Amino acid sequence: MSKTIFAKIIDREIPAVIVYEDALCVAFHDVAPRAPMHILVVPKKPIAMLSEASSEDRELLGHLMVTAAGIARDQGYGDAFRLVVNNGEGAGQTVFHLHVHLLGGRTFSWPPG
Ligand code: AMP
Repeated sequence: MSKTIFAKIIDREIPAVIVYEDALCVAFHDVAPRAPMHILVVPKKPIAMLSEASSEDRELLGHLMVTAAGIARDQGYGDAFRLVVNNGEGAGQTVFHLHVHLLGGRTFSWPPG
């Protein structure tokens, strides 16, 4: 399988504005932000989409959520933010390397579009 754009960002082959990194994940600004804060939290493990994660990824998936909440706090949006995972083309996924959208800084409608 060829390398996704997010794998290239993780490997520093293409640039991104990275706001957080640890042994398990990287977080960087979305190139086409949909909110004043729009950060992608991406596991270094190249899981294509959430539905392909397995039980051995439980801890990693939890880590992504806890990390996202911490980043929201650090960015000044700790009180109100939204996490989104698009799973599959029909749900709007365009990059097939699992990622959590972290959005904040505006009002979000419900149900989501
Ligand atoms: P999704 O549609 O859920 O797969 O989300 C993919 C996201 O990646 C979109 O919000 C894009 O704007 C974003 N994106 C695509 N290429 C880049 C890039 N080179 N750097 C940062 N974000 C990107």
